[in-house]
Amino acid sequence: MKSSHLKPEPIRVVVTGAAGQIAYSLLYMVAKGDVFGPNQPVILHLLDIPPMMPVLEGVVMELADCAIPLLRGVVPTADVAVAFKDVSAAFLVGAMPRKEGMERKDLLSANVKIFKEQGSALDRYAKKDVKVLVVGNPANTNALICSKYAPSIPKENFTAMTRLDQNRAQAQISSRLGVPVGEVSNVIIWGNHSSTQFPDASHALVNINGKQIAVPDAIKDDNWLRSMFVEIVQKRGATVIAARKMSSALSAAKAATDHMRDWFAGTAPGAVVSMGVISDGSYGAPKDVVFSFPVTIKDGKWRIVEGLVIDDFAKEKLALTGAELEEEKREAVAITQA
Ligand code: NDP
Repeated sequence: MKSSHLKPEPIRVVVTGAAGQIAYSLLYMVAKGDVFGPNQPVILHLLDIPPMMPVLEGVVMELADCAIPLLRGVVPTADVAVAFKDVSAAFLVGAMPRKEGMERKDLLSANVKIFKEQGSALDRYAKKDVKVLVVGNPANTNALICSKYAPSIPKENFTAMTRLDQNRAQAQISSRLGVPVGEVSNVIIWGNHSSTQFPDASHALVNINGKQIAVPDAIKDDNWLRSMFVEIVQKRGATVIAARKMSSALSAAKAATDHMRDWFAGTAPGAVVSMGVISDGSYGAPKDVVFSFPVTIKDGKWRIVEGLVIDDFAKEKLALTGAELEEEKREAVAITQA
């Protein structure tokens, strides 16, 4: 039997775009145990592009200066072979940002190249049970491409982040009802992490005075839930940019830790979270795209929640975001074949 004071071996975790602003918050959260728990030491692999290496040196210095007992090593690199070697978890944050005048196709083309290279590197160097979370946009399609180039790793191990959208949605409901955010659960984000996503509170729950009730019954304003609420969540990213003059980073990092923690540790009984996962066609979504569904997680495996009643309004929204994902997939595949 293992002595209880013996810590487990460190696990290796890669963060790409490690010199960027989401990573700046994310690295600290991962290092101090927010994802893998207070007893799991980690070795962080930091990948970025060659011109960012001097900046990355500063990040490495700050991580050392945080003096975090769980952080057992830091490996800064611009080489995917080093970055992905033996990793158990991958936060793929780095992606090509949209620049002025750039067409959607150019953006997609740059990202297909990045995620093709990273998928191949995961296939070659990572542990075969590595769990991959794609944050860099277009996250869903980037995750799909990454998975296609890592055929030795199960498709189920490639996911895209919609947890920030879920957290934003739960925060809006908490504020509208005047209850702490921890009392609100099970808001679903369907589809693409883009403006076509469908934040759906019709299955969400809230604890009020010790009683669990359905969010629509507590809000008593279906019109708000179907219009303003959806719009606020869809446009929240732009609203943060307008205020901060930079995109959201702290909240994106926190959501990434929520996603990965739940994936490794499992969801609590009755709790449902949203993740972009490979679609099996549930709820009429197109198959073989990375589509955000409500899932529960046990023993490191997610399962799409079955049997939810979807009304016509929701069906329409799901069809719209599904069509966008199919279109992105078509364009991305065409780029890989060009
Ligand atoms: P951020 O750290 O702010 O964002 C990184 C990515 O996350 C972007 O694609 C961004 O999409 C996406 N993202 C997803 N959800 C959100 C959200 N809610 N809010 C904000 N962003 C979100 O970008 P930085 O420019 O600060 O840093 C990116 C780093 O990645 C740079 O250091 C760059 O060098 C690096 N990079 C690394 C690569 C690699 O490791 N091979 C490849 C390409 C870049 P969006 O653009 O839509 O905001």
